Amino acid sequence: MSQSKGVALVTGSAQGIGRAIAIRLAQDGFDLALNDLPGKKEEGSYHPRTCIVTCDVSKEDEVKSMIDSVIDVLGSLDVMVANAGISAMIDILSETLEGWDRMMRINATSAFLCYKYAAIQMIKQGRGGRIIGASSMVGIQATSPLLSYSASKFAVRGITQAAALQLGQYGITVNSYAPGIIATPMVVASKAQVAKRGDKDDYFQKTIDTSAVGYVGQPEDVASAVAYLSSKEAHFITGKFSIPQGLYES
Ligand code: NAD
Repeated sequence: MSQSKGVALVTGSAQGIGRAIAIRLAQDGFDLALNDLPGKKEEGSYHPRTCIVTCDVSKEDEVKSMIDSVIDVLGSLDVMVANAGISAMIDILSETLEGWDRMMRINATSAFLCYKYAAIQMIKQGRGGRIIGASSMVGIQATSPLLSYSASKFAVRGITQAAALQLGQYGITVNSYAPGIIATPMVVASKAQVAKRGDKDDYFQKTIDTSAVGYVGQPEDVASAVAYLSSKEAHFITGKFSIPQGLYES
């Protein structure tokens, strides 16, 4: 059997982009730690060395124990992919404080916690590492129907840049991906939310029509960018977004 490239932990890996990233990193030779919420089923074809670390990544004690479990079972942490997230189609006039708090906790606080505890572990190991988060095209240019989602993805960009500046001295790169619309259960749920409300404006179709490529991306399109950011070759890329797939007009 070929030698392992190291250990990668992917949060929110039961479906969508996280699942595609986990499958791709396993194909590339990483041992895999898979995280999602309790009750979510992890399916896929992975490298023989895999562990499941179910938890809510917006909670500090759970993130700490998740990383401890990965070290106990797989021995190290070399790539942290803080992918888990939620979305909601809601604008500034309708958003509630509860909705805002939940979005920031699950999308931004979780990235902060995963970055922090992964970095502590990687510094301890002393051989560098890769930290990668999930931003979005709306973390670069906000859109009104995704008020708190956009804000949470801007936060991921800030955390990514600040952490990259500090962690470069340890050989740890910190990046995030910022795709346009990707065909996942998240987008199916958002479309259903819009349809239920009877919104006339088709945000999704409009966004696809104004993209350079004119079609929706697949989870594997993000996974291939993440695979490169996770590789040894990508050591000089830090504090950056991977190119937003599709290129959208703002
Ligand atoms: P998805 O909803 O299909 O999958 C997200 C996964 O995260 C789910 O399995 C869910 O259970 C898990 N999750 C949610 N909260 C969690 C928590 N607190 N702890 C652990 N796991 C949790 O979403 P997706 O489309 O695959 O998106 C993945 C990431 O990429 C998200 O951060 C999303 O914001 C981002 N993103 C998605 C798109 C897109 O168009 N799909 C575009 C840009 C960015």
